[in-house]
Amino acid sequence: MKSFPPKVLANNLNIALIFQKTISTIGCGIKTVKKKLVLPGKEIASTEEMIAGEGTFEDKGKIRASRIGEVRVDKNSKVVTVQPVTSTPVRVNRGDIIIGEVREVRNSIVVVDILQVEGNKRSLYGDKTAVIRVAEISERYVRDPLTEYRIGDIVRAKVTQDYPNLQLSTKGSEFGAIKSLCVKCRYPLKLKGKILECERCGNKENRKISKYYGQGNV
Ligand SMILES: [Zn+2]
Repeated sequence: MKSFPPKVLANNLNIALIFQKTISTIGCGIKTVKKKLVLPGKEIASTEEMIAGEGTFEDKGKIRASRIGEVRVDKNSKVVTVQPVTSTPVRVNRGDIIIGEVREVRNSIVVVDILQVEGNKRSLYGDKTAVIRVAEISERYVRDPLTEYRIGDIVRAKVTQDYPNLQLSTKGSEFGAIKSLCVKCRYPLKLKGKILECERCGNKENRKISKYYGQGNV
């Protein structure tokens, strides 16, 4: 981790705060978070209504806490996580591989909330907002980000820039969506060949998919 003189650090923080504020104003009303303290093993939800995220595990149709912490539910994506109450902040650096959740898809960028730095069990402190520019979505040419990502997608991405804001890339087969929900009924999509299919309503969807789609506890 780099260390900055206090003044540089303050400027860095200011820029980060302004950036975050802009994003959260635009994203206002999309994401709601609910907090509740639980012990490991505690049943939090069923896998039919929620998606197991960080700090949880699936057990016979139930989602349980794998550690002590606060339950956080993203009502939009239905991802439930357990966040440690006392956590040392983890800084996101260029070159890190992250797991994030798509919060917004716009004309030329995709806005992602970073949930976790891969290989680092500690949680990130507070919200970490990053963007994927349209040219960084895929090795193929992408005209409209909406053909590749939708709100609530869980993506694996590489951090290409950490200052003045966080930028990500999902170019390459390891990167892209690892879990997506049906846009019609919000049921998790299954990968069938190269297409994602909803087993509940039959809807078929396209994403920039990672080769790790459907693997892992997210
Ligand atoms: Zn569906």
